Amino acid sequence: DRALVWFRRDLRADDQTALYHALRSARQVFCAFVLDRDILDVLPRTDRRVAFILQALQVLDEDLRRLGGALIVRHGRAADEIPRLAAELGAQAVFANHDDEPQALMRDAEVARQLAPLGAALHTFKDHVVFERREVMTAAGGAYGVFTPYKNAWLRKVDEFYLSSYPVERHASALAASALARGVPSLDEIGFAPATLTPHLGQGSHGATVLLDDFLDRIDEYDRRRDFPAVKGPSYLSVHLRFGTVSVRRLVRLAHQRMQAGDHGAEVWLSELIWRDFYHQVMHHHPHAMTSAFRPEYDAIAWETGPQADALFEAWCEGRTGFPLVDAAMRQLNETGYMHNRLRMVTASFLTKDLGLDWRRGEAYFARQLLDFDLAANNGGWQWASSSGCDAQPYFRIFNPTSQSEKFDGEGRFIRRYCPELAALDAKAIHAPWERAPLAMSGVDYPRPIVDHAIARERTLARYAVVKSRA
Ligand code: FAD
Repeated sequence: DRALVWFRRDLRADDQTALYHALRSARQVFCAFVLDRDILDVLPRTDRRVAFILQALQVLDEDLRRLGGALIVRHGRAADEIPRLAAELGAQAVFANHDDEPQALMRDAEVARQLAPLGAALHTFKDHVVFERREVMTAAGGAYGVFTPYKNAWLRKVDEFYLSSYPVERHASALAASALARGVPSLDEIGFAPATLTPHLGQGSHGATVLLDDFLDRIDEYDRRRDFPAVKGPSYLSVHLRFGTVSVRRLVRLAHQRMQAGDHGAEVWLSELIWRDFYHQVMHHHPHAMTSAFRPEYDAIAWETGPQADALFEAWCEGRTGFPLVDAAMRQLNETGYMHNRLRMVTASFLTKDLGLDWRRGEAYFARQLLDFDLAANNGGWQWASSSGCDAQPYFRIFNPTSQSEKFDGEGRFIRRYCPELAALDAKAIHAPWERAPLAMSGVDYPRPIVDHAIARERTLARYAVVKSRA
């Protein structure tokens, strides 16, 4: 009896649910990853995520070889390659972890259909989150729509059973090497251009461990530091959570233990990980919200369209809005593939409520640029900012981009890092250069504000009024 483990967003060899279950149930276990053409063919050739994935696969292959196995890497359509590989290897079972994105569910259903005539089955497991699907429900059996009661129910339910790790190493003797495992291809071999990744991200699961150790030294200060983009406050683990180069159970275990010992920083950080589960279950219960407003009355809003709106959108994408914090944030995204959480909220609010543009345009841009792009979290974040989402910010709460800047980047340190043309301005002028230091701005290549916030605010309140009449 042979099994095939199909890796997807779980690129590690430790505490990996599907791998563990395969090792427990089959005598010989093979491992594979498919560089899926259905996903890759539509990406720009410079997409950084592909570079991140190849590095993670390299580390995974090394770790599997150390345990007696190896990683088979195929480049093709997953729905063709996995059944073909199962047939070549004589595997009766394919093991994988749940991926609840609508496209992924369709792909998995196709794989299961193709496996059936071969007499093989697809077995899937929860691995990506602590609680998924219908695991945390209200007393009446419904899905939670508000975060705080969801979080309280989540915390009541969580215990060692859900957080203990799956001991892969103990059962590794079933891992089998295969002549089909010929190493990981290079970017060039799969038609992608070299991409630079921020070095602190590290490579695959080994990089995640380094980041985690660094974060654990300062987790107790997370609550006080996390909102200031110039400060090393958050964990920077999001891309590792996205691709499963770190186990979420491990992170939650560490945070939960520290929280119980009275560490407030760890408590607030755990809350962020629970937001991740929250949005994940929203996607399961409300797949319609992945393409339209979670609250249907928000689909009646008339967003700006036409050439002028397109020009505003382009200025936002390129970090040329004339609002320094917004521009610094967009340039951080474009240059590194990461954006600080506070700035995701500020730039998303700016797009929808200052520029009057459809949140889906911003969502799609983030989806292309973010290394940690995750459909559930990105959609949740955008619909929070546009007020159309599940437990979203009320529509009449409109961030003022200048006061956000003063509050969260008071001295302008973050702005200076990404907008060097403003470096000479003092801490007062830098948040609104054209208004506060027009003389210093002549000759500086930095745009005037593309919108007047006070006017935009009034327009937004009028634009959103349609919601009230329909709610
Ligand atoms: P930390 O502060 O160290 O948080 C730890 C982990 O908790 C994160 O890695 C992430 O997995 C999770 N987390 C934190 N905040 C949230 C949140 N609000 N929702 C869901 N999970 C959260 N996060 C993504 O992982 N992918 C996205 O595509 C994404 N898009 C976003 C879009 C918008 C408009 C907004 C407002 C937020 C978005 N977020 C997204 C959430 C959040 O901004 C990032 O998870 C966070 O900035 C990642 O940095 P970190 O790992 O240093 O976070």
